[in-house]
Amino acid sequence: MLDTIFDKIDKDIDLTREDLKFLLSMEDDSQLDQLYRKAYEVKTRNVGKLVYLRGIIEFSNICVKDCLYCGIRKSNTKAQRFMIPEEDVVTMAMWAYENDYGSIVLQSGERSDREFVDMVERIIHEIKRRSNSKLGITICLGEQSEETYQRWFNAGAHRYLLRIESSNPDLYRSLHPEDHDFEQRLNCIKILQKIGYQTGTGVLIGVPGQTIDHLINDLMLYKELDIDMIGMGPYLVHHETPLAEKAVDFNEERQLKQGLKMIACARLLLKDVNIASTTALQALHPQGRELGVMAGGNVIMPNITDVEYRKGYQLYENKPCTDENASQCRFCLQHRVESIGEKIGYGQWGDSIHYARRTKQA
Ligand code: SAH
Repeated sequence: MLDTIFDKIDKDIDLTREDLKFLLSMEDDSQLDQLYRKAYEVKTRNVGKLVYLRGIIEFSNICVKDCLYCGIRKSNTKAQRFMIPEEDVVTMAMWAYENDYGSIVLQSGERSDREFVDMVERIIHEIKRRSNSKLGITICLGEQSEETYQRWFNAGAHRYLLRIESSNPDLYRSLHPEDHDFEQRLNCIKILQKIGYQTGTGVLIGVPGQTIDHLINDLMLYKELDIDMIGMGPYLVHHETPLAEKAVDFNEERQLKQGLKMIACARLLLKDVNIASTTALQALHPQGRELGVMAGGNVIMPNITDVEYRKGYQLYENKPCTDENASQCRFCLQHRVESIGEKIGYGQWGDSIHYARRTKQA
């Protein structure tokens, strides 16, 4: 079966749901190795032997949402809330620019009040101004109005990451309080695409109640939405959240495997998109992000937030690198990436090739 699937890939025949089911159900380590190797081959063929960096600045953990899995949900009264001053966010971004990262991600807990929207707009403007428009900016600030998305786009952000979390409305509902709306989230993704953002999405992998069929549908939804970038990762427990009670049979090795399988399958199915090898993988394995690249990922998002704030941004427990500063990270990452025979695309935006093709066709 595996050979037949690989043969299809070589002949550029689309994988079916049954193929994906087979791949996602595999447990045998030598078979999994073959899967990762094939996905890596498809990665190098489509997006090259480069890994692009997005320095991520997690500038606030103040959040109006209450997602049942997330450590910075508003009901977690134990989280000490912080907001990094505007000027400091710009300074961190400029560090990325000076160190040739090529692009950054601005992420925070969710707010949509006027003060916040204005502030983000000013930050984007200022980063663009000070970097002579050379630093690429991705934002990951949740659900906003079309007007807000447009303003941030006009200010100079060109990529947006909004995870759908699950493509299944029932599973989505089981992970969120009642006032969080699946349809609205999906609609936001469509609005982002309409505005012209390179648009990314992703899901939580290995959440309680999730089946292989859900994961297949997640992959199919990426394809259906014609998404440019994927940022998905294994679910990790945070004990100050309601979902922790349901995650009693949590198993790190299984989470890691499922995360890597999903990256590999996404690469085989979507080929020329950007796929992040997320930090959550590294929380499960010291070489988690390298494994993610070897399974088909081509983007790494090193944390460049000042160390003093990192402990406050705990979406999940055991978040790695919370005591390492950005310079240490840079060195460590370069070494890690080169150790697997890849190069870092320093100074480049590393835009999604899929986006270029999609917009040229349109
Ligand atoms: N509010 C923003 C940013 C949220 S944090 C937004 O909605 O986009 C970014 C991502 O972290 C979320 O989309 C979620 O998929 C992930 N995340 C949150 N809690 C997590 C957990 N316990 N384990 C793994 N990933 C988690």
